[in-house]
Amino acid sequence: MSKAPVKTIKTTMTSTGDWLKHHARMHTLVAVLVFAVGLAATIYYWNNLRQSVRADLDAAYNRQVSAIGAAAGTRLELYENFLRGSAGLFKIHSNLTQEEWNEFHQPYEIRNKFPDIEGIGISRWLNKADVPAYMQRRAAQGEAGFKIHPEGDRDVYVPVTFNAQYTGNNGKSRGYDGYADPVRRAAMDRAIETGEPSMSGKINLVSESRPNRSSFILYLPVYREGFPTETAEQRKAGLLGFAYVAVDFQALIDGVLKTNQSPNIGMQLRDSTLKGNDAKAYESDNFASIVKTSGSKVDDNTFDLFGHKWHVTLAASPELISERERQLPDQALWRGILTCLFFAGLVWYLITDRERKYARQKQEEVQTAKDDLLSLASHQLRTPATVVKQYVGMMLQGYAGDLTPQQLDMLTNAYDSNERQLEIINQLLYVARLDAGRITLHKEKVDVTKLMRDVARDQSEAVANRNQQLTFKIPKRPVVAEIDPHFMRMVLENLLSNAIKYTPEGGSITLAIRRTPGSVTMRVTDTGVGIDSSLQSNIFEKFTRVENELSTDVNGSGVGLYLTQQIVELHGGSIDVKSKPNEGSAFSVKIPVVSKDNG
Ligand code: ADP
Repeated sequence: MSKAPVKTIKTTMTSTGDWLKHHARMHTLVAVLVFAVGLAATIYYWNNLRQSVRADLDAAYNRQVSAIGAAAGTRLELYENFLRGSAGLFKIHSNLTQEEWNEFHQPYEIRNKFPDIEGIGISRWLNKADVPAYMQRRAAQGEAGFKIHPEGDRDVYVPVTFNAQYTGNNGKSRGYDGYADPVRRAAMDRAIETGEPSMSGKINLVSESRPNRSSFILYLPVYREGFPTETAEQRKAGLLGFAYVAVDFQALIDGVLKTNQSPNIGMQLRDSTLKGNDAKAYESDNFASIVKTSGSKVDDNTFDLFGHKWHVTLAASPELISERERQLPDQALWRGILTCLFFAGLVWYLITDRERKYARQKQEEVQTAKDDLLSLASHQLRTPATVVKQYVGMMLQGYAGDLTPQQLDMLTNAYDSNERQLEIINQLLYVARLDAGRITLHKEKVDVTKLMRDVARDQSEAVANRNQQLTFKIPKRPVVAEIDPHFMRMVLENLLSNAIKYTPEGGSITLAIRRTPGSVTMRVTDTGVGIDSSLQSNIFEKFTRVENELSTDVNGSGVGLYLTQQIVELHGGSIDVKSKPNEGSAFSVKIPVVSKDNG
């Protein structure tokens, strides 16, 4: 059997339901839209905030970098100035001694104030032929042990002649020919080439007192008085030597970073002319960990310092800006999402609530109009139908003379139709009264076994007409309940007449009563067409009929079960149905009773 459609005579309920469903979809759509727009705005705002935090980090970083740059620049300028002063002394003092050199630099308090300076000195430029005279001058100054090292036969020697040493071993560095070392030599050649101060690449000083530390030397060329210094050739010809300062990278940069920086900036310095680990001239302690921190900023630059190229990597940790500021974007994101959810929910609630109120109001208006119409129509119909009943009845009883068999047959049909018509009108009247709240129960103690037998007797003809078998499962002793006999009779009549209508000819119907503590249950069971489980809840609705194979043959208004349920509920009871298509149905009415009333 295919699934029976629900045919609703009254359309308002269903169409209102559809309307609500349709609108619910619309509301959800509006809410989703509100959420989506809000979310888009939030994401836009979040992104802007992130950019501005990034910009703040960049700005903080740039401030730090310029501070570092300025500090480093000042330091280098200072070295250059030192050199110019020292070179001046050397130039004007032809018979300068090491002691005088030391004395000259003493007021600077280099050891205390410039811990990065390892030594300040003069390296003399000597052609091979000049060496003997040079050695004689050293001896004349009482430096008999003075030796140029490393030893060897070279065209040019550039030995350290005077050296104010602040770290390490002075004895070792004096006499050291820096020109024999390619790194120093490159810087010296560049100084001659450009006539400018010139920085060496990364070196480990001969007089190293700080193990594993890197240094550089800054050379300033010094020329003989009166010699032209326009071209590289002229400069080389007039070259007296170099004033130099040797600087320890770690002390220098630690000083620069410490005085200017937060612990959130790290730095690595590499000699651009070297490769791998050899190139590393400096690395701050925090460098590696900052580079690894997520969200840190790592910036590479190559600088030319006095002719030598250095690769500087600066790493700024995100903590350069405050935690509060860093968390701002994510906080804004979460707040935004929550706000969007709240507003979407609010919008959804407001619209739905309004629609629901509107739908309820509309439904109530329609219901009132219908009830009015129903009550009016049924009242108007009842009187003429009753008059028809009286006249046809009188004719059937022979008040208008004898009737031919054909007249009798026709009038009997008319009488039956009029009966059904009145029955429907009566039902409609009850519905109208119920809906208007105008039904009051007049309860009395009633033996429901007797009531059920009376109803069965009244409908026994219909049962017999359909060849159906009626069985009773009713206690022999009376079962008393406090009910309105008139309305409870209607309930049983409805259930039994439905059972008769919706059970095929030859089927069977059982009427049962069961007394349980606190309640009495009256059950009408049939072996009829049954009701699909999905439709069972619909049948108690007003004006609702479920189509089945028998419903086209039988009359019905679709209000019988509605009235039944309403009356049962007015009694404080309940009705339920158990049914299977093609197997039958069982309608149970359960009415509460007070124990002692049981007869
Ligand atoms: P009506 O019988 O006038 O259609 P009711 O309110 O009494 O209206 O019943 C509603 C619907 O419930 C009926 O159309 C019918 O399909 C179904 N129904 C009621 N009683 C039975 C039954 N005993 N067996 C099968 N279907 C039933």
